[in-house]
Amino acid sequence: MLVVQKYGGSSVANPERIRRVAGRVASVRESGHDVAVVVSAMGDTTDDLVSLVKEITDSPSDREMDMLLSTGEQVSIALLAMALKELGRPVISLTGAQAGIKTDSAHTKARISEIDTSRVREEFNRGNIVVVAGFQGINQASDITTLGRGGSDTTAVALAAALKADLCEIYTDVDGVYTTDPRVVPEARKLDVISYDEMLELANLGAAVLHPRAVELAMKYKMPLHVRSSFNINPGTLVKEVENMEKALLVTGVVCDHNVAKIGLFNVMDKPGIAYTLFKALADEKINVDMIIQSAMRDERNDISFTCSNGDLKKALAVVDRLQPDIGANGYTYGEGVAKVSIVGAGMVSNPGVAAEMFEALYKEGINIDMISTSEIKVSCIINDGDAKKAVRALHKKFNLACE
Ligand code: ADP
Ligand code: ASP
Ligand code: MG
Repeated sequence: MLVVQKYGGSSVANPERIRRVAGRVASVRESGHDVAVVVSAMGDTTDDLVSLVKEITDSPSDREMDMLLSTGEQVSIALLAMALKELGRPVISLTGAQAGIKTDSAHTKARISEIDTSRVREEFNRGNIVVVAGFQGINQASDITTLGRGGSDTTAVALAAALKADLCEIYTDVDGVYTTDPRVVPEARKLDVISYDEMLELANLGAAVLHPRAVELAMKYKMPLHVRSSFNINPGTLVKEVENMEKALLVTGVVCDHNVAKIGLFNVMDKPGIAYTLFKALADEKINVDMIIQSAMRDERNDISFTCSNGDLKKALAVVDRLQPDIGANGYTYGEGVAKVSIVGAGMVSNPGVAAEMFEALYKEGINIDMISTSEIKVSCIINDGDAKKAVRALHKKFNLACE
């Protein structure tokens, strides 16, 4: 059997935890399986590196950011390999580049283009456990790239798919995927199984437990994932294809994303090409726009509002400033203090009224809704960030998601 395991930052946060992970990995090897282990940077290392940058510059180049942030994972692979060696296991650590992880050149949010697995396979043939640095790869110019924050999950799933692994385990600091973040709602219930579709929505909407692109890859390559805790041996959550959609829960989970900023433009001209001009310019700056609302026309004028991540707000405001005369807007506002709360569930497709129930729960808490967007399996609302926790708790209760 070939097993890929991924250990997140908290699982390798200190030497003692690294030794514990080494013990776990060694016992899998003991059973005769080939093991590739993908690791994240220790604890808050990546955040600390980002803080360090702020003391040097406000506008670091993306290439240098990748050069810096990729070092965190390099520390963990070396230490984990040393810990395994201490246990008498043959092992080798590999950076993303050494493991054949090739990406495009979109520094800080690179995408994996292919994985050349020859080196990893050679090392298996030599009897080695292979420890691979998560979150990083190499582009055609041989520059180091990173896959975006939380990207080690994606490294693990991509590697598992490329190696046609029998098992891909994602070890983290909670027992699996819950109905909502168990750190916000302690009554949250662990899900035994969740479908790729639902997991993808949860991840895209901000559930940190899995990187959205990891779920995308798992779905594409039909690679089941087992999300579980590195602190105990409890079974976690299986993320896989779930047939019987009819039986699906109405609402499977509640998510909150605090990394949201809102921009509203007033009185833009109501004529063809305005939305194109605005959103093309934002796309050219690689700004990911999420919700868009255009108000009903009055006097040949519209208001347009949209959301993006807090990190992109500065760039988005620069675009809006520049385009204001072209699109005829006579002003704009923006706010960072907003959050997006969402409910997700495959059962919503065939059940009208779920959105109304969500709005009712928010109304009963006195929470005002700023923007709404829906898809077949989710409803999202933009609200005040200060109301976010209250909203998540109310929705979790409304849809009876707590443990019995
Ligand atoms: P790692 O370092 O292992 O990658 P992360 O911090 O990225 O760990 O992800 C795990 C965290 O995700 C948990 O500690 C939990 O607070 C958060 N989380 C958010 N939503 C959920 C959810 N629905 N189920 C489980 N954990 C969640
Ligand atoms: N170390 C990186 C981060 O903190 C990648 C990861 O942990 O998945 O974002
Ligand atoms: Mg993570």
